[in-house]
Amino acid sequence: MPFSTLGLSSALCEAAYAAGFQTPTPVQAGAIAAVLEGRDLLVRAQTGSGKTAAFALPLLQRVVPDVQLRRAPRRIQALVLVPTRELAVQVGDVLKALARKLVPAPKISVVFGGVSINPQMMGLRGGSDIVVATPGRLLDLVDHNAVHLDQVRTLVLDEADRLLEQGFSEELGRIVALLGAERQSLFLSATFAPPVSALAQQLLRDPVQVAVPDTTDTRPDIAQSAIAVDTHARTQLLRHLIKQYGWSRTLVFVATKYSAEIVADKLRKAGLNAEPLHGQLSQGKRSQVLEDFKASRISVVVATDLAARGIDVVELPVVVNYDLPRSADDYTHRIGRTGRAGQAGLAVSFVSADTEAHWRLIEKRQGLALDLEAVEGFEPTEVATATAERFVDASGNGGVKGKRPSKKDKLRAAAEQAQPH
Ligand code: AMP
Repeated sequence: MPFSTLGLSSALCEAAYAAGFQTPTPVQAGAIAAVLEGRDLLVRAQTGSGKTAAFALPLLQRVVPDVQLRRAPRRIQALVLVPTRELAVQVGDVLKALARKLVPAPKISVVFGGVSINPQMMGLRGGSDIVVATPGRLLDLVDHNAVHLDQVRTLVLDEADRLLEQGFSEELGRIVALLGAERQSLFLSATFAPPVSALAQQLLRDPVQVAVPDTTDTRPDIAQSAIAVDTHARTQLLRHLIKQYGWSRTLVFVATKYSAEIVADKLRKAGLNAEPLHGQLSQGKRSQVLEDFKASRISVVVATDLAARGIDVVELPVVVNYDLPRSADDYTHRIGRTGRAGQAGLAVSFVSADTEAHWRLIEKRQGLALDLEAVEGFEPTEVATATAERFVDASGNGGVKGKRPSKKDKLRAAAEQAQPH
């Protein structure tokens, strides 16, 4: 089925083809016509499913006829809320690429925190057609009287589960209260825990529902493996794997900003072109690292979970969990950085004696049953310490046999685990 059968204008179809999209992905096939009709939309789709274009294409078609006619000072027509600055940039880039052939061209603004607010205020002065924003900075702009939301006719919540996980619930409530009542709402999420479903129910009116089942047909082609290794030998193992398999670009996930710096530094000293990526770097530096990674000027990025959702580097062959993610959901998002756009990918997780029980839990939640492999020269010798059990339950998932930690244990373990990005 070509894009042209979904009701999109020829300019948008051409832009989709120019972006390399030959045929719609299932989520695009299910969503585009409904959004064009003005219906609310509820999408459950895994990362890498093509969900950005699923809302971006029809959104662009719906704003275009009103462009210039409706653009009023500090007013905007459509608002796309995203959880991270990186995702804001990425969604903005997709919208701009797909809008390239539209006449008149819609004005697309991207606003997020961590950079000066003044240029963003100036940019919104004459109004904008589509604003992509992180919630905190949008509210700052509202508080500065730089933008009014009363004329927003389309609201998109992208990665709604992550918006809630990152503690944006209160901000979302404030933003929604400022929007006009007459609006179309599009809600996209990979997971639907009760708070996410409750928010969807509150925002949506009789939505068209599109669920892309997480089957082997739609799951990106990602080979997964787990390697048993001693904690202290992980950097060396990583270097060994990069060299042995000739990985051209590797995204390495660690648990803390500190580890990101240390591991990147060790790799650099070993002659690899590696950079850290975490929330304490300036926005300029973060953007530069991503740009250099995409342009192959950097071959290894060592990142905290900050990067788990924002990065879209086609031809990213490998993701390495140097530290395991805290939850099975985070695992999905991390490994979803590879195997995108129909390409094969590889996700490797390092498992040490202390994290093995936690790994088994992630595996169980993922429906995986992987052999713990050993790499010659890196066979593990460590044995688990007593704290390992506490680490397991810090995920809040339970399900592990043996001593059940007290609430206090859990709080302590959660505090130890909670590393702000
Ligand atoms: P998303 O799930 O929106 O992050 O998209 C995942 C990746 O799929 C991105 O690299 C897109 O450029 C790519 N993509 C989106 N739609 C299509 C399509 N119809 N055909 C091929 N690739 C696509």
